[in-house]
Amino acid sequence: KGDPRLQGISEAIRVVPHFPKPGIMFQDITTLLLDHKAFKDTVDIFVDRYRDMDISVVAGVEARGFMFGPAIALAIGAKFVPLRKPRKLPGKVISEAYELEYGTDCLEMHVGAVKPGERAIVIDDLVATGGTLSAAIRLLERSEAEVVECACVIGLREVKGQLRIAVNYRSLSMKML
Ligand code: AMP
Repeated sequence: KGDPRLQGISEAIRVVPHFPKPGIMFQDITTLLLDHKAFKDTVDIFVDRYRDMDISVVAGVEARGFMFGPAIALAIGAKFVPLRKPRKLPGKVISEAYELEYGTDCLEMHVGAVKPGERAIVIDDLVATGGTLSAAIRLLERSEAEVVECACVIGLREVKGQLRIAVNYRSLSMKML
């Protein structure tokens, strides 16, 4: 990870202790979006990695995957597919539940958004347990897309060993919880 752009990206992410509840170190990427160089460097690093991998689908996880995914999709010549929280998409959907610390949540994708055999990447801002990305992968695989990789801006090092993700993931910056 000798890329000189990574330090600037890492420094542009604001860490907010005890948000949204006590004990959580919230990694706030809105400050990264305010910093043109750090924002562009983030998108460029992913574009450099994925542009020649024959990717035709960039799937973004609501909501912060929507902030990076479309820019990457346009640059690599792929479509963007939003993976949304329940009851947001108007068409026919498939759903995948995933576990949260308390209770469960769900991601939905429009039926027909991807075609069998398409090569996909999944984008989110952060991977912690990997539960969210695992649900995203299941949605794409149920649609017979091939999930090549998941990409996140931030990986939380402490929980990396517990990842339940079945494909590679890469993150640009490792943050301490
Ligand atoms: P997980 O499913 O455990 O990998 O959690 C990842 C999802 O929760 C991502 O969509 C993140 O945006 C969000 N998330 C989890 N932990 C944090 C954190 N410390 N700061 C910001 N977002 C987080």
